[in-house]
Amino acid sequence: DIYAELISVGDEILYGQTLDTNSHYISAELDKLGIRVKRKVTVADNRDAMMRAFEEAESNADIIIITGGLGPTKDDLTKPLLAEYFNSGMKIHEDILEDLRQRFAKRGRELNELNKGQAELPEQCTPIENKYGTAPGMWFKKNEKVFISMPGVPKEMKYMMEDTILPKFKEIYKTPVLIHKMVKTVGIQESILAEKLEDWENNLPKEIKLAYLPGLNQVKLRLTASGEDEGQLQKLINEEVDKLYSQIGKYIYGTDESNLPAKIGELLREKGLTIACAESCTGGYIAHLFTSNAGSSEYYRGGINPYHNDLKINILGVKKETIEQNGAVSEQTVIEMAERVRELFGADIGISTSGIAGPGGATKEKPVGTTWVALADGENTQTKLYHFQFDRESNIEITSNTLLNLVRQ
Ligand code: ATP
Ligand code: MG
Repeated sequence: DIYAELISVGDEILYGQTLDTNSHYISAELDKLGIRVKRKVTVADNRDAMMRAFEEAESNADIIIITGGLGPTKDDLTKPLLAEYFNSGMKIHEDILEDLRQRFAKRGRELNELNKGQAELPEQCTPIENKYGTAPGMWFKKNEKVFISMPGVPKEMKYMMEDTILPKFKEIYKTPVLIHKMVKTVGIQESILAEKLEDWENNLPKEIKLAYLPGLNQVKLRLTASGEDEGQLQKLINEEVDKLYSQIGKYIYGTDESNLPAKIGELLREKGLTIACAESCTGGYIAHLFTSNAGSSEYYRGGINPYHNDLKINILGVKKETIEQNGAVSEQTVIEMAERVRELFGADIGISTSGIAGPGGATKEKPVGTTWVALADGENTQTKLYHFQFDRESNIEITSNTLLNLVRQ
């Protein structure tokens, strides 16, 4: 295997001011090539810390990718330190200097000394073109190891990766092929799923690895096949996905990029049905999930978020007595909400939520997480009561996922 280590340079990342999205992106791209990222390190703008990181990375990996610290100012140390690390003198690249001069001229500016310095690079490196900025990247080779330095600015870094680095990696490292397939389930707990799949898992071909990625009422199964023959791996993975469908098909709503509301949209479209929602505790989150998918106007009629009880009564038409007698978080209330929104919005299906998302608003009988949902289709109105035990945001998300799953069934 080929191993990589990523080094993110910059005090701002350590202070929590900048989120290190660069290493996230680079990891994913290397993964696609079958290059294994063994370690990620974030290091301060500090000589000793950086030199030590270079040394450790060199002993740890075949490819070392550094981002940040390439600017022209004094606090940016990557370039002089790499020159020191490789015992390399500096040289001015006339072509880069000329290119900089022209780019500045276009904007009616002249190069100052700091800018000119950008064209001066360690003799040992091969420069990498920076289309969107002034600091070139650098590619060093030492024995069989590769050191690459790029600016911290995500757009500049990505351009270098796509234009120069990834194509070169493909050429140099004839890495094994990695294929991922995500199988997405809803409405079953991870542990129960794992129990059901135990035999299947034990009999997976050796080329395939399995990971469980649990979410809120959703569990994703990631199958990863690695080997040499892409066609063969694809076939192996497809066979295993077929087996999953035959064993746990009723919990699977899709694979890879598919999402639950899109899947429901597909089902509704096939049946020629429309849906509308009256959301209290989910605050429009379900509406957001539906409308995030292109083409949702074909099946999504609309939604209403009558948060205050007055609006549940006066706008939506829930009976005053219903709320007075049962409270807003009650079976009777969600039934009327679902039925009323269905009629009011002229939909085939009406769905509703009312719950205590927390952290406040709880009573002894109705603790945080108490959530009623309903689904009305004109003939029947189904209801469900849940006791979710998460924070507010997650309670909203799991309520939405759970109700969508009810629609799916
Ligand atoms: P420049 O050539 O523009 O001076 P640089 O190599 O000096 O770039 P930095 O000064 O470290 O890069 O960072 C430039 C910008 O990129 C900053 O806005 C910083 O927040 C952002 N940045 C740096 N490192 C990362 C990272 N790992 N992930 C995401 N953004 C980053
Ligand atoms: Mg910096």
